Amino acid sequence: MLATALSAALQGIDAVPVQVEVNTGEAGEPKLILVGLPDATVKESDDRVFSALANSGLHPPRTRTTINLAPGDLRKEGPFYDLPIALGILVATDQLTTDRLGDYLIAGELGLSGATRPVRGALAMAVLARKLGKRGVMLPAVSAEEAALVAGVPVYRINSLDEAVRYLTGQLALQPLPRAALAPAAAVEGAPDFSEIKGQQAVRRAVEVAVAGNHNLLLVGPPGSGKSMVAKRIPTIMPEPQMEEFLEMLAIHSAAGHTLHGELRTFARPFRAPHHTISDVGLIGGGAIPGPGEISLAHHGVLFLDELPEFKRSALEVLRQPMEDNQVSISRSAGKITLPSSFMLVAAMNPCPCGYLGAPKHECRCSPSQIQRYRARISGPLIDRIDLHVEAPSLSVGDLRSAQPGESSGPIRERVRQARAVQQRRFAGTSTHTNARMTQAQIRQYCAHDRALGDLLEQAMLQLALSARAYDRILKVSRTIADLAGAENIAAQHMLEAIQYRSLDRNVFY
Ligand SMILES: [Zn+2]
Repeated sequence: MLATALSAALQGIDAVPVQVEVNTGEAGEPKLILVGLPDATVKESDDRVFSALANSGLHPPRTRTTINLAPGDLRKEGPFYDLPIALGILVATDQLTTDRLGDYLIAGELGLSGATRPVRGALAMAVLARKLGKRGVMLPAVSAEEAALVAGVPVYRINSLDEAVRYLTGQLALQPLPRAALAPAAAVEGAPDFSEIKGQQAVRRAVEVAVAGNHNLLLVGPPGSGKSMVAKRIPTIMPEPQMEEFLEMLAIHSAAGHTLHGELRTFARPFRAPHHTISDVGLIGGGAIPGPGEISLAHHGVLFLDELPEFKRSALEVLRQPMEDNQVSISRSAGKITLPSSFMLVAAMNPCPCGYLGAPKHECRCSPSQIQRYRARISGPLIDRIDLHVEAPSLSVGDLRSAQPGESSGPIRERVRQARAVQQRRFAGTSTHTNARMTQAQIRQYCAHDRALGDLLEQAMLQLALSARAYDRILKVSRTIADLAGAENIAAQHMLEAIQYRSLDRNVFY
């Protein structure tokens, strides 16, 4: 006899429908045959399903049984299908009489006892069920809570195979979960905060400017100057995410399985810091079953690339397009998938291969050609997309001992929010949202300056031997500095500060 249940597979961050067809009563020894491009974890279903059935007081099939996961050309991965397979077997073997199996989108792993275990991508599954007009979604506990964030589709929490059976036969009345409410998380105890950064006034200021205008940032300094410590705290001074942004972030992390472990349950922006040995696929996404890469996991947050020159050239190359488009397209044999990837890039590097060029207590032994080769690794197109370079000096003993904590994240975030509000009004009705993304025409319109300022900039460019590409960056950053100051027009002090943030365009750091 044939039974059919509806489940789903993940493609990037979207769920697509998968029909689980169960056919029992075939000739041959009693076993499960899984077809329809299942991967190894799906194939292990039969052991889990057999045990779960037996331990729930039900009977595994006594005949050869074929499970077909359709469509057949779509790879299926992960233990999503245990629960729909088990329910399909029960209907096909007349142990469960219901005409409601097809009304729900069902997913869940089964433990040997018959208890359900959460699956990745629950948020996308709820969105799919709503699109298909299903009566509801049946999901294991943690997954169900995640799915309940999606409005417009009832979500049922199923703790065990037995519960699913009793619900479908009407013996158990289940209420759909109430729509989960999200509120900005109150300060989480032990969360990083800018008050822990002592000294480093110049770095703190550059970070504030960068976040205010959504500019990418490069921190240059010797080991121990606290570059990663600073980077990690940048999400804490970004404006709180809007609900729309939060749902996008959540969908990405749900597809990657992070939310199952409690990440992103709070209303916080992501900080991703992949190691420099990361593969191109790990960075931009894709793989046999296409999933989000680091640049998508950093969506609406910070992507931190420490030791920037150590990253493979190919990895830095693949970053360019997504940084331009705020999304990444991954080519598949069966078409393209697109994942969102709008992030602030924060990169860090040592000033030279040994790290101690210009440091007061250590001697740098790098030759000029070694230093040049080291910097040349990141020159060109990527550095061109980074508006601010800032030197982080090594911390002096005095700084470290300073009992005075720095300003905390809250007030900095408030200033950033005000500067962003100015930009929102400025760019209303255009596709630009922040100063960093101004077009040439917008730069001309909003970074207008008088003759004296033009002369100042030209002089600085000559004296500091700045490259031509530095010109627009300085204007954009000047605009942000003026916005932070609440100034209508860019003034000389704004421009002078912006000029300082182009240290990498000069031939020397120090
Ligand atoms: Zn050195």
